[in-house]
Amino acid sequence: MEQPISVTRSNFNDWMVPVFAPANFIPVRGEGSRIWDQENKEYIDFAGGIAVNALGHAHPVAVNALTEQATKLWHVGNGYTNEPVLRLAKQLTENTFADKVFFCNSGAEANEAALKLARKVGLDSGVAGKSGIVAFNNAFHGRTLFTVSAGGQPKYSQDFAPLPNGINHVAFNDLEAAKAAINEQTCAVIVEPIQGEGGVIPADIEFLKGLRALCDEFGALLIFDEVQTGVGRTGSLYAYMNSGVTPDILTTAKALGGGFPVGAMLTTDKFAPHFSVGTHGTTYGGNPLASAVAGAVFEFINTPEVLEGVKHRHQYFLDALKTLNAEYQVFDEIRGQGLLIGCVLKAEYAGKAKDITTWAGEEGLLALIAGPNVVRFTPSLIIPEQDIDEGIARLKRALAKLAK
Ligand SMILES: *Cc1c(COP(=O)(O)O)cnc(C)c1O
Repeated sequence: MEQPISVTRSNFNDWMVPVFAPANFIPVRGEGSRIWDQENKEYIDFAGGIAVNALGHAHPVAVNALTEQATKLWHVGNGYTNEPVLRLAKQLTENTFADKVFFCNSGAEANEAALKLARKVGLDSGVAGKSGIVAFNNAFHGRTLFTVSAGGQPKYSQDFAPLPNGINHVAFNDLEAAKAAINEQTCAVIVEPIQGEGGVIPADIEFLKGLRALCDEFGALLIFDEVQTGVGRTGSLYAYMNSGVTPDILTTAKALGGGFPVGAMLTTDKFAPHFSVGTHGTTYGGNPLASAVAGAVFEFINTPEVLEGVKHRHQYFLDALKTLNAEYQVFDEIRGQGLLIGCVLKAEYAGKAKDITTWAGEEGLLALIAGPNVVRFTPSLIIPEQDIDEGIARLKRALAKLAK
């Protein structure tokens, strides 16, 4: 076989559109919660590909599903359905509130579908102008034009005006503000049960209950963006299950494929028919390859052992982080659920989250930020305790640099 083309990190700057600023090393191989770079340096993975690699790297369940399906059928197009996608739809509907599923390839696409469905339901209601969307400051819903507009971080949308209109942003966890914004013209309210990118900020249960009541009162659809919180991340299959509040639409992606790109919009028999033949679509969504992997990952995660294991690891992680913080005093607050954990920097270290993840990389640890002041961890849902210990030891060395 020919040698593959030799590449280095500096080639990123040569050839890649510069929307990202990746770390100065290139991961080449992963196993469980460890990865190795081109120099064979080993890292503990507390980032999990941004809440994606729910089973870590190269888990046999995912690898077997992928390779088995790879020899059978990859893609047929939506003129035909396929067995893996129907099995995955059965799993998702049997284990959630939903009756129907639309498959796509990413979180943004799932939210795009959700917002479009809500607009269509609003139109079909016959109520004049029922197209308003209520969303929340600091939210993140993806990078398409509609989803950056629904997101509550103007830095992601303002350069792309004119934006889709009819979207009203109010303060997160402020039920009075939501009440003032929701009316007969509202077709949807979109909210993350835990704001992930925005800083790992959990929604109050009373806030979610209040949104549910307002949506019922005004005939608006309640959309839960569970792209980051879904598929076991919080220790429940979906985060809505922790709140007792059931949405009309739920979007899921990230962990759903365990690293293979797949997304889905879940809804009920009441709303699904508004997306009649031809109203929406996708080329790749629900292809057999992605569906087979997602089906295997979902089945593995949706067991009491794995979900209880996430809750156990949450406590284990928190105890370790608190011990670390008792020594270094860098975090004001450690928050989140399950294995979606955010550490909020003290005011004196404001803006230093990125530096911490850079130093963590030097020490052999992959970690994330969630805004400039929050260090975020979203590791594999089955990360071994000894890998948590080792990752915390490496984090300790990174924090020592900060404290200096
Ligand atoms: C990551 C994320 C998205 C976007 O998902 P992509 O797959 O990057 O399009 C949307 N919503 C939330 C809550 C996310 O965390």
